[in-house]
Amino acid sequence: MCIFCKIASGEIPTHFLYESEHVVAFKDLDPQAPAHILVIPRAHYENAAELAAADSATMSELFGAAREIAATLGLDGYRITFNTGASAGQSVFHAHLHLLGGRPFAWPPG
Ligand code: AMP
Repeated sequence: MCIFCKIASGEIPTHFLYESEHVVAFKDLDPQAPAHILVIPRAHYENAAELAAADSATMSELFGAAREIAATLGLDGYRITFNTGASAGQSVFHAHLHLLGGRPFAWPPG
């Protein structure tokens, strides 16, 4: 079972900032901003493209969860990222949305 499947199933005890039948959200282990939250489907999909193709309702819920978490944390601006594929920086191959906030962000991203 992959690390995010273990987190989603409760095998690795984790505090969830958002939890529903299909989605959970938790703090990133190595935060890249004062707020860095991962929002993931409970079901295993290798990346965001696979999730979007297979289950658009859950893909949509990831964005809704990110919006709710950003509001709860009082973020006035935030960035959402899906690293999709190793060349884009993906290192955990279970689809996840990065919600980053609490500092200014540069554009273009690195
Ligand atoms: P990515 O590089 O887009 O695949 O993002 C994977 C993210 O998962 C990285 O930001 C890691 O810091 C984070 N991460 C890896 N393992 C864990 C874990 N056990 N708990 C929380 N975040 C994790």
